Amino acid sequence: MVQEQDQQAVETVEARPGESCADALSRGLSKKRFKQVVAARCGETTLDLTTTVPDGCAVLTPVYASSPQGLEIIRHSAAHVMAQAVKTLFPEARVTIGPAIENGFYYDFDFERPFTPEDLEAIEERMRAIVARDEPFTRREVSKAEAVALFNEMGETYKAEIMDDLGGERFTLYGQGDFMDLCRGPHVPSTRFVAAFKLLSVAGAYWRGDENNRMLQRIYGTAFADAKALAAHLAHIEEAKRRDHRKLGPQLDLFSFHEEGGAGMVYWHPKGALVRTILEDFVTREMLRRGYGIVRTPQLLKRELWETSGHYANYRENMYFTQIDETAYGVKPMNCVAHMLIYNSSLKSYRDLPVRYFELGVVHRHEKSGVLHGLLRVRQFTQDDAHIICRPDQLLDEIKGVMTWIQDLMGLFGFECAMEISTRPEKSIGSDEDWERATAALMDAMAEMGLPYAINEGDGAFYGPKIDVKLRDCLGRMWQCSTIQVDFTLPERFDLVYIGQDGEKHRPVMVHRAIMGSVERFIGILVEQFAGAFPTWLAPVQARVLTVTDDQKAFAETALAALQDSGVRAEADLRNEKLGYKVREAQVAKVPYILVVGDKEVEAGGVSVRLRGEDRGFKTLAEVAEMIREDCREPFKRGGMRYSFGS
Ligand SMILES: [Zn+2]
Ligand SMILES: [Zn+2]
Repeated sequence: MVQEQDQQAVETVEARPGESCADALSRGLSKKRFKQVVAARCGETTLDLTTTVPDGCAVLTPVYASSPQGLEIIRHSAAHVMAQAVKTLFPEARVTIGPAIENGFYYDFDFERPFTPEDLEAIEERMRAIVARDEPFTRREVSKAEAVALFNEMGETYKAEIMDDLGGERFTLYGQGDFMDLCRGPHVPSTRFVAAFKLLSVAGAYWRGDENNRMLQRIYGTAFADAKALAAHLAHIEEAKRRDHRKLGPQLDLFSFHEEGGAGMVYWHPKGALVRTILEDFVTREMLRRGYGIVRTPQLLKRELWETSGHYANYRENMYFTQIDETAYGVKPMNCVAHMLIYNSSLKSYRDLPVRYFELGVVHRHEKSGVLHGLLRVRQFTQDDAHIICRPDQLLDEIKGVMTWIQDLMGLFGFECAMEISTRPEKSIGSDEDWERATAALMDAMAEMGLPYAINEGDGAFYGPKIDVKLRDCLGRMWQCSTIQVDFTLPERFDLVYIGQDGEKHRPVMVHRAIMGSVERFIGILVEQFAGAFPTWLAPVQARVLTVTDDQKAFAETALAALQDSGVRAEADLRNEKLGYKVREAQVAKVPYILVVGDKEVEAGGVSVRLRGEDRGFKTLAEVAEMIREDCREPFKRGGMRYSFGS
């Protein structure tokens, strides 16, 4: 009977008044399953196992350790255990808050200096001792005055402030061993449930995220239901570190950042700039093929235009301003306004629409220095931006066209996409009717293409609703890149019109769309997706010719010239070094084709090919060039796309 229950994964258990949640669940579940339970749920309320079953609660749902909610409870409880360990090692440290976050937890401490890696080890050791003692988490409810008095006595000065923020007169305190904390709960029953934990890093964090406040020391950690899941997660973190574009970028000589030149601005080196050029060249050709016109517009536009567009009122804090003579200018954070001026430079008829303007537009946005992150979050970046200005009856097809391009481009790199439609935010312009029309158009397009989507309530742009596309990379991480935004408002503000079939003026609709989003960010994601080993069509160096001895130098130079002539991006390593050493260097540089020339190869008039570590044997130079060309063409067979660079 018990075994049968195990297989059926019992979802609810009958509860009796007056008993504890633990008693109810242990009665209703097998011993084996009950051991995996960390909390109980009654309707929407999650309860500690030690809690008495609330009045009117007839059934309880077990919360298992490995469920998303169970993991959150384990991680949050681990934060308490970590705070307990920190307080025993460093009694002068003051505790603030310690929430569970995605994939882990943190706790912020007010401490005189940053914690060192040695400190983290010592804290982990104390945590292991606490886990081994299996100390129960106990809960009690007290008045605010009592809580304040208790924390003040302990020298914990932050807790009173937190209670003021939370409001209310009754608070719950949780304790384990000699540690006590203010918390809403719930927690695991005892410390043995947080056995599979690991502390990961330390970072500074301002109290309440405000840079005018005191700098706290934040310790990050993670915890899982068991050691196996923890080990898998730690391996995943290592793999992500190995792929980190901030490490690979300089290592592969792609780009660098220079504080003396300004934070959040990228310097592209020849190889990185070449990758960018190839990518932008491909995208530009595809835009032409898909009916877009290429435009170029200025960096600075008069402030009045930003006032008309609403950016000055709604987006000013993210913009840079300057003055030329007596006139105020704003550095463009978006290209929309400039594209509308182009549209308005001539009168359009219904037959001229849709108009599609594409620009690799350089924009500047003021991001706080604390959030800048390699190529992923910068202050100056290039959008693959376009604005489609169309008749309302064309909107659906235009959105579908954009979605097709998203699918083609993302498919090229092996990304899966997840889509979200974001609706009207609190801070917004435009009428209710406009918002409803625009939102409906996005939903209809998705429905007609059979694409699933989630709704992101209140997360739209201030001028219209949008579809956001998130990529899933090979490590399962999600990246926000593409966005399609319908806008009924800016055409109004800039008085965009077209002459309809009736000879009257009509208002067109505008679609803002960026597919890679930021070219900088997209390349950062690509570096991580491919761990620096770009597909051959995108690799800055596709082939490197290596000599075995100086005897093959002349032939190698001829071979290099022949490959370059046939459009291959090739270089040669003719140094008087051991072949093994030169091969390793080429591999570290992630060159896909390593072409070795020894006496035998010279005699036969070709090279020995190694493709990403795999021996492909002897090939003539013409064969190598064709092999590389085919390798470049292969990913483009979808959607009638063509690889064009260098051939
Ligand atoms: Zn807690
Ligand atoms: Zn725009």
